[in-house]
Amino acid sequence: MKICERLKSGRVTVSCELFPPKKDGELDHVCEVVRDIAALKPDFMSVTYGAGGGTSINTARIAEEIESRGVTALAHLTCVSSTKDEVARILEELKEKHIENILALRGDIPKDSDFPSPGHYRYASELVAQIKARGDFCIGAACYPEGHIECAHKEDDIDYLKRKVECGCDFLTTQMFFDNNILYNFLYRILAKGINVPVVAGIMPVTNSRQIKRICALSGTELPPRFKAIADKFADRPAAMKQAGIAYATEQIIDLISNGVNSIHIYTMNKPDIAAKIMENLSEIIG
Ligand code: FAD
Repeated sequence: MKICERLKSGRVTVSCELFPPKKDGELDHVCEVVRDIAALKPDFMSVTYGAGGGTSINTARIAEEIESRGVTALAHLTCVSSTKDEVARILEELKEKHIENILALRGDIPKDSDFPSPGHYRYASELVAQIKARGDFCIGAACYPEGHIECAHKEDDIDYLKRKVECGCDFLTTQMFFDNNILYNFLYRILAKGINVPVVAGIMPVTNSRQIKRICALSGTELPPRFKAIADKFADRPAAMKQAGIAYATEQIIDLISNGVNSIHIYTMNKPDIAAKIMENLSEIIG
């Protein structure tokens, strides 16, 4: 099923994200993660794409596994490490596997690379346009409520986002954020620019305090004082941090749904127990 149709239905949707195995030997474990998360009956499951190219084959395999479990799959695809010809081959492969939904991304530019080199797409918008031209996929793309780290001015970032949508993107998924007001502000600003495709809010249940501080520093994500206090207090107590992280994510989601943000994407980090606990916390809310 095309994800954009489901997002436009107006009902609350909850989806989950996984990452593919780094090595082939770990494929069985990730298939078990797929089985366990699929059993929670999310609206769709996305599977990320290794920018280095090494794990890219596994993205298509995992997407196929998701579909075989009766859940709609969203395959991520980055263009930073693949030439246009390679991208065309991957699109064919996804089509053969009956994957209908793609999250089209540029990917992070590797250090010391000569990107963009001839034969590559420079921005995700170019990849979106290429996929759109084929006419057979529902296309999602990334957006950044706090601005993308490389873009000096948030307004420019939104102008580029608009271009990406105009190139054919059907929906957007946000970078994680820990302060819902940042998302509400972003939604007003993109609407004012005429971007009106569905926006899926990306929620990260934090279970490792040090790791999240590192990730946020790299991505430019703000950690609000209320969240920082939790991360500091429970930094050395993993079980307590996990419980607090699940509670924080649950509260964020309830506030979003209460304010009309109906599409929620949980960055599960391949941990079915965390996804299960959040779904259980929301059982009456998401019906
Ligand atoms: P783009 O939309 O191309 O934007 C990149 C930068 O270029 C931005 O700063 C933008 O403002 C700027 N820009 C865009 N167009 C123009 C233009 N015409 N002129 C000048 N500047 C421009 N990474 C992975 O490797 N694998 C994944 O599976 C993955 N999944 C992700 C899922 C989500 C929901 C999110 C939010 C991110 C994900 N990422 C993933 C990370 C992503 O690849 C990086 O954030 C990357 O740096 C930017 O990718 P993009 O598709 O947003 O790029």
